Amino acid sequence: MPNANLDTDSHLHIEENVPLAPFTSFRIGGPARFLIGAQNLRQLKGALRFAHKLNLPFCILGGGSNLLISDDGFPGVSIRLLMDRVTLSGGMVQVQGGFDLTTLVHRTVGWGLSGLESLAGIPGTVGGAVRGNAGAYGGAIGDVLATVSALDATTLQTVTLRHDQCAFGYRDSRFKREPGLIVTGALLALTPGNPDDIRTKVAETLAKREAKQLSCDRSAGSFFMNPKVTDPGLIRRFEEDQGVRCRECRIPAGWLIDQAGLRSLSVGGAAVSHRHANYLVNTGTATAAEMVELARLVRREVRLKLGVVLKEEVSTLGVVI
Ligand SMILES: Cc1cc2nc3c(=O)[nH]c(=O)nc-3n(C[C@H](O)[C@H](O)[C@H](O)COP(=O)(O)OP(=O)(O)OC[C@H]3O[C@@H](n4cnc5c(N)ncnc54)[C@H](O)[C@@H]3O)c2cc1C
Repeated sequence: MPNANLDTDSHLHIEENVPLAPFTSFRIGGPARFLIGAQNLRQLKGALRFAHKLNLPFCILGGGSNLLISDDGFPGVSIRLLMDRVTLSGGMVQVQGGFDLTTLVHRTVGWGLSGLESLAGIPGTVGGAVRGNAGAYGGAIGDVLATVSALDATTLQTVTLRHDQCAFGYRDSRFKREPGLIVTGALLALTPGNPDDIRTKVAETLAKREAKQLSCDRSAGSFFMNPKVTDPGLIRRFEEDQGVRCRECRIPAGWLIDQAGLRSLSVGGAAVSHRHANYLVNTGTATAAEMVELARLVRREVRLKLGVVLKEEVSTLGVVI
């Protein structure tokens, strides 16, 4: 049974032995030794001090929509980032790291601000999206960020980084490479536009996602990144099959998995989705171990059959793929 106590010094609500599966879209993962919700910077610092004091590792949980957690759970302090304020001032949007990305997209539509339309329908928090430079349909959150605020988990100092200091790339950023930097907020430079046009673009994005059935339950969205491919024959095959040009030599991982004949492949309760081959899904009873075995199998078969090495997009805690 989870225990709860209140750290009176920093007003932290600390729970012990809390199952993490319900906090992830996969619904997979064992218990955290400690779980703390951080509703403001003070609590976030308090949670980190608590981890330092006990000499335990920490991890940050956003929306859990890109996270595969070990069946053994996490033997340290899991911190849920619950800082979720957003303000509009002088045309700039200041948003905290725990704010829900989908809600932000709709909020900016209401404010008549354009720039986030292609991100509609991507689950999770702003912090998680900044870390992974989440995106779709050619756009990514990094494109509209003026600055990012982050807390250095070691010094407990806050830093504000300009866009050019964040090293945004395809599903990549400085925050992914430096896990000690916790994204606490962002300043978005959006463009004023006609609310009806913006709303229409958001609706178009959502319709495209719906048509591709991208809202699949118990997955983490795309499991693998779209790899850069050097084989001209494979690029031609993709372009002829799909009737589209490949962007920056990247071929969708889902197409490759499909070509390797792996759609619907399963290991225990983990399966390659029959709707979208780059979605690995928990059909109900999957363990992290089964998901890892499936992912390894998919990666091996794609390498053997097509000569392409897939790299996971999903973040992992306590497991190695
Ligand atoms: C149905 C579905 C569809 C999806 N579609 C897309 C898509 O179209 N495009 C796309 O890019 N992604 C997509 N995803 C993946 C996921 O939504 C994004 O990666 C999202 O940005 C993750 O945010 P999160 O808050 O859920 O992060 P989490 O899953 O909570 O965390 C992911 C990683 O980021 C770290 N992290 C979280 N918050 C912070 C923070 N504030 N500071 C530092 N590190 C942090 C965590 O420690 C973890 O390592 C999809 C997922 C699902 C389930």
